[in-house]
Parts: sequence; C-alpha cells; structure tokens
Amino acid sequence: MSDLVIIGGGASGFMGAITAINKGLGSVVVLEGTSKVLEKVRISGGGRCNLTNSCWDISNLVKNYPRGEKQLIGLFNRFSTVEAFDWFQEKGLSLKIEKDGRVFPRSDSSEDVIKCLTAVAKKSGVKIFTNSHVKQIKKKQNGFNILVKGNNYFEAKNILICTGSHPSGRRLAISLGHSIVQPVPSLFSLSTSEKSLTSCSGITLNVHAELTVNKKKYAETGSILITHKGFSGPVVLRLSAFSARNLYSNKYKGELRINWLCMSENEVRKKLDLYKLGNGKKVVINNKPFHNLPRFLWRALLLTLKIDSKLKWADLSKSQIYSIVKCLIMKSYLINSRGPYGEEFVTAGGVSLDEINFKTMESKICEGLFFAGEVLNIDGITGGFNFQHCWTSAWVAGNGISVK
Ligand SMILES: Cc1cc2nc3c(=O)[nH]c(=O)nc-3n(C[C@H](O)[C@H](O)[C@H](O)COP(=O)(O)OP(=O)(O)OC[C@H]3O[C@@H](n4cnc5c(N)ncnc54)[C@H](O)[C@@H]3O)c2cc1C
Repeated sequence: MSDLVIIGGGASGFMGAITAINKGLGSVVVLEGTSKVLEKVRISGGGRCNLTNSCWDISNLVKNYPRGEKQLIGLFNRFSTVEAFDWFQEKGLSLKIEKDGRVFPRSDSSEDVIKCLTAVAKKSGVKIFTNSHVKQIKKKQNGFNILVKGNNYFEAKNILICTGSHPSGRRLAISLGHSIVQPVPSLFSLSTSEKSLTSCSGITLNVHAELTVNKKKYAETGSILITHKGFSGPVVLRLSAFSARNLYSNKYKGELRINWLCMSENEVRKKLDLYKLGNGKKVVINNKPFHNLPRFLWRALLLTLKIDSKLKWADLSKSQIYSIVKCLIMKSYLINSRGPYGEEFVTAGGVSLDEINFKTMESKICEGLFFAGEVLNIDGITGGFNFQHCWTSAWVAGNGISVK
C-alpha cells in the first residue's frame, strides 16, 4: 500500500508529490489518465508558462482571485509567490519577471518547467504512471482502494485529488461525499452585436470599464482590446472572471460602459472647449484633442453620433460637444454572448470550499482524502495566479499529508 496516491499529473499533482516525499513520506505515486504529464503546463502562457506573478504582497495577491480570496490568505501566509519563485530557482529553473509582473522561465519555454518538475520528482523517488485514468475510489477502514482503467488496482493510505477542471475528478469527489459548486467558464472575451467598432478591431488602449449584469456592477481599469466581435484584453478578462457566475446565469447578457479616456466629464469638456477655440477651421472627424485616443476610434465614436464628416470645430454646437463628452466617457455596449477564451482559461466552480480544512487541504468529510489545484472552487485572473494557487494548495497538502 502506498502512503500517498495522487490522482492527476498536472501542476498541483507534481508539487504535491514532490513536497510530500521530501517531507518524509515513504511511497508516493502519481496516476495520470492521459499519456503525458503536465500537458497544461506545456501549452500555458502561449508555450512560455506564466508560472507565477511578482505580486509579493499577500493582501494585494488575494485580490486576484474571484473565488477563494478568503481561504487563500492563510495558504499564502505559508507558501506564496516569493516561496514559489525561490522554489523553482533553487531547483535550477532560472526565472524572469516581466514589466507587468508576470513570471516566466528565463528561456521562455514551458518545456523547461516540465523538465524541472519531472526531474525533481524522479530524483525524489516519486513513481509516475501515465495512461492510468482513475475510475473509482473506495474508502476502506485504513485507506483507499483505487480502480484504474484496465482493471488495475492501487491501494493508498492517503489520496490527493489534483484532477484540474476534468469532470472525472469532480465525480470522484462526489462519490466520496463532497458537494460541487457548478463549474462555469471564467476568463473569456465579451461579444456585442453592435457594429460601430468593427473598423477598430486590433486597437488596444487603457480604459475604465463597468460591466452591469443583473443590476450588479463590476468595475476595472486597464488595457482593453477591441476585437471584430467585441472586447477582450486584461480589463475584460478580469471583468469576465469576477462576474463569471452572474454572467452565466444571465445567459451572458450585460451592459459594458466604457470611459475611453479614463477622464472625468469636466476634464473632457474643458479639453474639447479649449481645442475648439484654437482649431476652429479644422474638420472635427480628422482632428482630435486627445493624443492617446486612436484616430480610428475617434472617427468610429463620432460616426455613432452622426457628426457630419465635413463639420469644422468652430461649427460644433454645445449639444454636440455634450454628446461627444458622453460618448467618450460613458459609451454603452450591449453584451449578448461570451466570446472565445483568452490565452489562459480556467473553470470557476469545483469542490466546495466549506468542506476543506485549509490548514492541511484535507477533506472534512473523508479522512485521508486531500485536494489541491483547479479541482477546488478557487480560480484566479490571468497573470500566473492560477498556477500560483496550484503550487500553494499542493505544497500545503504535501505538508499536511506528511505530518499525519
Ligand atoms: C491554454 C491555457 C493556458 C494557460 N496558461 C496559464 C498561465 O500561463 N498561467 C497560469 O497561471 N495559468 C494558466 N492556465 C491555467 C492553468 O493551466 C491551470 O490553472 C492549471 O493547469 C491547473 O492545474 P491542476 O494541476 O490543478 O490541473 P491540470 O493541470 O488540469 O492537471 C490535471 C491532470 O489530471 C489528469 N486527470 C484528470 N482526471 C483524471 C483521472 N480520473 N485519473 C487520472 N488523471 C486524471 C488530467 O489528465 C491532467 O493531466 C492556462 C490554462 C489553459 C487551458
């Protein structure tokens, strides 16, 4: 009988296995259902693997998790971004921090993260079995019986479920008495049927955006990307993550209000008035007072107001100026569906957090059963926060199991 069998050879499975065996557990086995371990690490971050973030401050760090913020405070106090950064560097993986705080391997290759994790696991004595999809787990008096595809059986004193967003992991959790918060997508772009911005597709700029779904407002400031179907970019992915459950129950209908300039009504009005004074002979649609606002976007916004394409600044009426101000700082778009995912995508939902002891990641319902990673109802926004939660929860689980 193994001391620990881990179901799932992903990021959390490997971190859990390495931690547990190095804390003194005699035999640790990883069962991976597919033919390859760490497949999501391989494709992550566009093949570069954004494995954590340089947000070192725990109170700021937890704000990047729409679900699990409260529980992660305690977990991060034990193993956070600093510890994860040092952990990989100590294991020989050289890392770099990009301007926006995302952490990648210095080589820009996710293969190096895989090489690091598999080499450390092998050196530590972790046994890894691929093509070993776990179909059933049965609790017995002092441990578990595990049925693997092909009618192979394993026995374990402890089990760590690290199956990510795969439905089979949730089914195993239910069979052992756990309840599941319904999984719904997170981190996606937003689509609108409005056509006024199609000429602007590809434009990115800093905005303040407010998404209203079912009367609830979500607000974020940051970079937006105009796509041919709607909106994406960090600010939209953040909004989608925080409103994921609400958007799902509202069939992805909402209203996105954008302040294209991140300026107040007064500031914008003053700028327009001043520009009008000095540039009366210029054509409005071809000349703008805001350097940061792309010319295509300025034109597209004015076209929605039906401003004549030959109108000069001197001839702009007060009411036209007023409507330009409104259009620049509170233009509304009806969101009617969910667009494709961004570079990274995760599931919101999973094993209910009330049923977990966050000091050890052990189930409160079934002794000897532990969980880590995306199988839990915890998810982060884009930026390395999802892997960070995997490293952290698996490290805590690995320690929790070893001290039993
Ligand atoms: C395209 C893409 C890019 C991403 N990029 C990033 C990024 O750059 N940074 C970031 O922080 N996050 C990123 N993420 C999210 C991140 O990959 C996940 O949060 C993370 O992989 C979850 O790790 P995990 O170990 O919990 O689950 P997984 O990595 O999904 O691993 C679970 C493993 O369990 C196996 N399994 C499932 N069921 C069974 C079973 N019954 N028996 C045996 N094995 C089973 C699966 O085959 C899988 O190998 C990205 C996600 C995607 C899809």
